[in-house]
Amino acid sequence: MNTKEEIEHIQCLIIGSGPAGYTAAIYAARADMKPVIYTGLVPGGQLTQTTEVDNFPGYPNGITGPVMMEDLRAQAERFGTSVRFGYATKVDFSIIGGVHKIEIDNIKTVTADTVIIATGATAKWLGLDSEEKYNGFGVSACAVCDGFFFKGQDVAIVGAGDTAAEEATYLAKLCNKVHMLVRRDEFRASKAMVHRVLNTPNIEIHYNTETQEVLGDGQVVTGLRVKNNQTQEVKDLDITGFFVAIGHKPNTDLFKGVLDMDETGYLITKPNVTATNIPGVFACGDVQDNVYRQAITAAGTGCMAALEAERYLAAKEGGE
Ligand code: NDP
Repeated sequence: MNTKEEIEHIQCLIIGSGPAGYTAAIYAARADMKPVIYTGLVPGGQLTQTTEVDNFPGYPNGITGPVMMEDLRAQAERFGTSVRFGYATKVDFSIIGGVHKIEIDNIKTVTADTVIIATGATAKWLGLDSEEKYNGFGVSACAVCDGFFFKGQDVAIVGAGDTAAEEATYLAKLCNKVHMLVRRDEFRASKAMVHRVLNTPNIEIHYNTETQEVLGDGQVVTGLRVKNNQTQEVKDLDITGFFVAIGHKPNTDLFKGVLDMDETGYLITKPNVTATNIPGVFACGDVQDNVYRQAITAAGTGCMAALEAERYLAAKEGGE
């Protein structure tokens, strides 16, 4: 081991740079905690992969996801946050000497009094080239974010879990027709959610159906090619929006065996707060939320995490 390795000490380390991470940074910086944020591989997080954001309060004319994240970054920097491109590769939360130890990019070690985890979640995709090509141009992984752009139009949604069922009924209120593609002959969603889908007249369910290709005119989505995996029949649906709702994966591999998480990998925080099972480690945003998953709720929990970190530090310094 290199004994001359310089270890940087940080009062408040934030891992992840979506709305949760940047909001935590704004609050922590204003509380003079001199936060350092490591952005992860996708600075700005999931919102940098969307187009218009019309539901974040304060933007009456909407804003694009990438611009909003640049604004949040600038606001965090204005109060002294150090924003750095880097990826946490190892954590030691055994709190030796009262601090946590985090390795960045396998090379640098930092110690931190408080750690705010805002690593988010990643939407699962089908993995089709055409899905990637039209992502943001008719293909979306968030009905609540993008459904409005398809008001009065025909859309399709793939998935059969609670998210897909909830999003299908949400879309049905806005859109003319919703084609729901279920790959098996039954839903995974809870009975109550399935009941709601079955009782929504403008949702047409296509069982045993898989997506073959997203069709488009080179600019935007114009249809969907689907195949019945029982009859092998292939057909094209006329749609302008395609919603993928096949689940999310929380970005928590780094914390396995260290932080409490549920069976699907979401971090578990104490009731009504952002504290994890380790003192001084807080979690906010989608990494601990598989229900709401909105930029505004992520920002709200980011604020909570910074306030809790500040109180934790104050109590520690006061010898409580
Ligand atoms: P789930 O993992 O529960 O469901 C994913 C769905 O996508 C399954 O129906 C699965 O099909 C389908 N799927 C996966 N891969 C493909 C593919 N390649 N092609 C077609 N279909 C595919 O994820 P959810 O996001 O729906 O839910 C995650 C968790 O969050 C669950 O525990 C859920 O209960 C919870 N939740 C609760 C809500 C609430 O209570 N209001 C709202 C939303 C989520 P198959 O069934 O064949 O495997």
